[in-house]
Amino acid sequence: MSVLVFSHPDGLLHDTPKGHPERVERLHAVEQGLSGLAFTRRECPLGNWDDVLRAHDPDYVAKVRDAAPETDRVQMDADTWMSPGTLNAALRAVGGACAAVDAVLAGEARRAFVATRPPGHHAERNKSMGFCLFGNVAIAALRALDHHGLKRVAIVDFDVHHGNGTQDILWEEPRCLFVTSQQMPLWPGTGETNQKGAHGQIINIPLRPNSDGAAMRAAYQQQVFPALRAYSPQLLLISAGFDAHERDPLAELAWTTADYRWLTEELVQIADETAGGRVVSVLEGGYDLQALTEAVAAHVGAMTKVE
Ligand SMILES: [Zn+2]
Repeated sequence: MSVLVFSHPDGLLHDTPKGHPERVERLHAVEQGLSGLAFTRRECPLGNWDDVLRAHDPDYVAKVRDAAPETDRVQMDADTWMSPGTLNAALRAVGGACAAVDAVLAGEARRAFVATRPPGHHAERNKSMGFCLFGNVAIAALRALDHHGLKRVAIVDFDVHHGNGTQDILWEEPRCLFVTSQQMPLWPGTGETNQKGAHGQIINIPLRPNSDGAAMRAAYQQQVFPALRAYSPQLLLISAGFDAHERDPLAELAWTTADYRWLTEELVQIADETAGGRVVSVLEGGYDLQALTEAVAAHVGAMTKVE
């Protein structure tokens, strides 16, 4: 069984303003990173509204649908824009994440990577935020729980920014362990250790500005890996942002490509021990194109290699 990669050309039609860091070229950089790897590609289906509505308020979903422009662009918040292609791109991202969960739980593969944009982990239950419209990874987790009947799902979010949207959507969800590491202080400002969820099922790992991969590895070894092993998830989801890379222009952490390879190998090892090896990784941030190419190659390569 090879790793599945879910993608769709609609992701290229989400057209952000000139100079916006979350841009079409990111997907080309991701494809370049994938180009040397062995995997099976699948096309993202359009996400369905039932899946979206597990995570988002109906009023918010209606607002996004109503806002979708036929020409030009509309600004949803300080950082998030919709172009005529955005709604379809966002629904492909939802659909890809859900289809990846379906495929992995059906035993069609043990690992999957969802190479889509816009990202999702900042979108809260009732608002867009930080380039994100729908909470792709939270939606995928809720599909695994509600549609497939899993009892324990874990999400690890290693994007450099706090996964505030995932935290908001899953704040009261006892069936999901959410672990998120982030530079602190940094936008959006949330993610302190005292934010633990309604059931103590959320773990926030703040990392100091300018800290490197050694600090990350120590934090994950001391706090994240033991928690994951103790929880013993049936499925491991990853919010895979690559903006903690030392080259990234949006933050000040100093992870290297080798750090992403190490972290992925460790997470896959834990999934092998606890979750039948089932890992679904969903692209979040990463705004230096060279770093994105290299880190995606290391991340997906590690999912392939250790299978
Ligand atoms: Zn980010």
